[in-house]
This record gives sequence, structure tokens and C-alpha cells, in this order.
Amino acid sequence: MTWAFFSDVHGNREALEAVVEDFARQGVTRSFFLGDAVGYGASPNECVKIISELTAVRLLGNHDWAVLQRWSPDDFNEHARAAIFWTRNALTEEARTVLKSFAMEQTVGDFHLVHASPHKPDRWDYILDPFEAEFAFNSFTKPVCLIGHTHQPLIFRKAGKAPCSVTHIDKLMLNNDARYLVNIGSVGQPRDGDPRACYVLYDPDTRCLRYRRVKYGLSAAQERIRRANLPAFLAARLEVGR
Ligand code: ZN
Repeated sequence: MTWAFFSDVHGNREALEAVVEDFARQGVTRSFFLGDAVGYGASPNECVKIISELTAVRLLGNHDWAVLQRWSPDDFNEHARAAIFWTRNALTEEARTVLKSFAMEQTVGDFHLVHASPHKPDRWDYILDPFEAEFAFNSFTKPVCLIGHTHQPLIFRKAGKAPCSVTHIDKLMLNNDARYLVNIGSVGQPRDGDPRACYVLYDPDTRCLRYRRVKYGLSAAQERIRRANLPAFLAARLEVGR
């Protein structure tokens, strides 16, 4: 039995398809989506469809949420906002209906799943350092909370009452000595300097969690963004992973 957790696809069909192919190679039996199916990339409808066929556990991200609203997403930067308007226009009624069914948070086994933070999930807070993570540890009771949102794969560890620490290891054996807050990285727009799609595998028997990086047809995804007249910056950033 192998589980896969993936997040932040952002309308990047090429990256998502490569990751789904990798699921098959890795023998993935269950997958879980942590939010932001759309926004930035040029294939929102295809990504919503693929995700909805893959898994019943689908969480809402802040971009998904913004696309479903009618007002201007003023807390987004200029490129993200342009992509939200573009996606609203491109989204089919069918995809919009599916997106509306996405949940805010969910638990499964040892895991609490949420897009941004278990502390007030609909505030879409960014957890980037141990100080911000400390708050989050008080807001879930499971051994592990998995998040996406920042597109930065990293792991916060909390043992007893000691302040939590942060690591960038690519493999984690869960044990009962500590609790963890794990950012699973981004499939469609990694921002840790590695342009390959990122997701996390989990073996419930050994309790081993590990990151996977998958090469995909990046130039095809860039070409789609340019042809869709989305901001050129959104195509350029994919190849540097920023
Ligand atoms: Zn995102």
C-alpha cells in the first residue's frame, strides 16, 4: 500500500500528468490533493478533471477559492490576479461545479490535511518559519499535519514542549517522539529552486514519508501559458523553480 499527497497543481497539466504517471510507477494506491488546482497555468479544466478522477479527497486552495468568487482578489500580486481573472473566464461550468465541492480540511489516518494552515484555514496564512509553525501545532491533534500553499518543501518538528525546529530532509520516518508539520511542495510551480514537480509518498506500514521530484514537459507548459496570453513571467518562473 502506498499513498501519495500532492498539492498546488496550478493549471499545469504537463506537470500533473507526469506526476500521475509517476504514481503508477511507484504503485500508489490512494492519493490526496491539498489544494490549488487552478491559477497561474493554462490548463485549469484539464487539471480539475484529472484531480477529480484521481481522488475523492480534494481540498480547496486560495487560488481555487478566489476563482470561485466574483470580487477582485486584491490580496494577490499582479500576476496572480491576472491569472485569477483569466481562469474565471476559461473555467467551464462543469469544472466550476467540481471545484465548489472541494473541502477546506480533512483528516485521514495519522494526518490532518489542509492547504495553508490548520489555524484558521480560510485566512490562508503562510507558514515559513518555526515561529509561524508553533501556532499551527496548537491547531491540530493528529501526529502529522500536511500542508501546501508556500510551494516550499520543508518539515517542522515539535517534540514535547520544546520550540519546534525546521529541516529540509527528503525522507522522514514518523515516530511517536514528535509531531510534524510537513509542507509537501508544489506539483505545478515549485519555488525551491528545483523546477521538477514535487509531491510526497507515504508507506502506512513503515510510516515512511518521502519527497519525490519528477521531470516533466516544462517547455510545453510554458508555451501554453504564452499562447493563452497569461503574464510571460508565469512561464519564465517555471524553468528556474521560483
Ligand atoms: Zn499555490
